[in-house]
Amino acid sequence: MTGMTSSARPRLNRRLAEFGTTIFAEMSALAVSTGSINLGQGFPDTDGPEEVREAAVRALRDGRGNQYPPGPGIPELRTAIAAHQLRRYGLSYDPDTEVLVTAGATEAIAASLLALLEPGDEVVALEPYYDSYAASIAMAGGRRVPVTLRPYSDNGAEGTEGARFRLDLDELRAAVTDRTRLLLINTPHNPTGTVLTRAELAAIAELAVERDLLVVTDEVYEHLVFDDAEHLPLAAFPGMRERTVTIGSAGKTFSFTGWKVGWVTAAPELVSAVRAVKQFLTYVSSGPFQYAVAEALALPESYFDGFRRDMLARRDILAQGLTEAGFTVFRPAGTYFITTDIRPLGEKDGFAFCRALPERAGVVAIPNAVFYDDREAGAPFVRFAFCKREEVLREAAERLRHL
Ligand SMILES: *Cc1c(COP(=O)(O)O)cnc(C)c1O
Repeated sequence: MTGMTSSARPRLNRRLAEFGTTIFAEMSALAVSTGSINLGQGFPDTDGPEEVREAAVRALRDGRGNQYPPGPGIPELRTAIAAHQLRRYGLSYDPDTEVLVTAGATEAIAASLLALLEPGDEVVALEPYYDSYAASIAMAGGRRVPVTLRPYSDNGAEGTEGARFRLDLDELRAAVTDRTRLLLINTPHNPTGTVLTRAELAAIAELAVERDLLVVTDEVYEHLVFDDAEHLPLAAFPGMRERTVTIGSAGKTFSFTGWKVGWVTAAPELVSAVRAVKQFLTYVSSGPFQYAVAEALALPESYFDGFRRDMLARRDILAQGLTEAGFTVFRPAGTYFITTDIRPLGEKDGFAFCRALPERAGVVAIPNAVFYDDREAGAPFVRFAFCKREEVLREAAERLRHL
């Protein structure tokens, strides 16, 4: 043994002790050891557009981005991000002072919270949370205050077919206290697949203005909305432009999750604050990929339409398979993910269900409870990713039929 005293024994500090391991490592290992189809983690099993990949190769060969790029990101990419926000949403940002390129959305989230929170500040966030939120709030010394999304159908019935996970606006208002500094929003929402409606977003905006709150909004699935749903950026609502940090990423939109090119758009003071933190986290990243993403953002509408149609077809294959297997399926209006309820299968504990599923059916999924503080509220829900090839999804559906 090392003979270290207990105080010197290396261990994760108290702020972060609860974040020691993630479910994804355990489930991905299970997928490998059982030969299961891994619908746990959300990354595509095919790469994005060939011309975008070629643009990265060209940049690398031409020696563009092989050395430290500029701290805020290369001008070509910042200009392309600003043009994208203007073209799609009519939101105008100055590429020089209001756009910051980050090491994926993950760094954008962490840097925003580290920049904007004082220790003890409360952050109101939608539960279930994307898995980095709780850890990033903790790193910043903040306190998370969840507002739980719950499945209701239009007629108010809970948890039935056709239901969507909704934001209870009274609960949201009640969660805001004098210690609240910031609202952390995510739409389209991972893991529930909910796309916040105009009414929900308007209520969030009104509350933020009334209580003078900052808003950090994670919109990495902005291009993945289906059926009648529409992605509306929170920054476009009245009073929000100056108080909102909007986070985007190339990973999900262009199917290059390994490139880790993300960004922040916000008012100059907010971008300066986030940049001040970012310079000491990574300083810069993804040099040649920044050139490729600048080209990707300028792809014609047909790319974005085709991508959405393609993912919609995959959603429908998996949703049908899950329905036929006996799950209640909450048909997602956005994202890569389908959240299901396992109670119709006679199950109630998503953890136990997901640990057994590889042996039982040769498929890996994620228990949504890991995304909740209120584990009870998340217990019966299980998440499946559909950003996989159609034949993989068909095979998964076939395997699940034997449950
Ligand atoms: C994948 C994901 C991220 C992380 O994006 P990167 O650009 O890969 O860091 C952030 N937020 C949500 C909701 C995600 O699903």
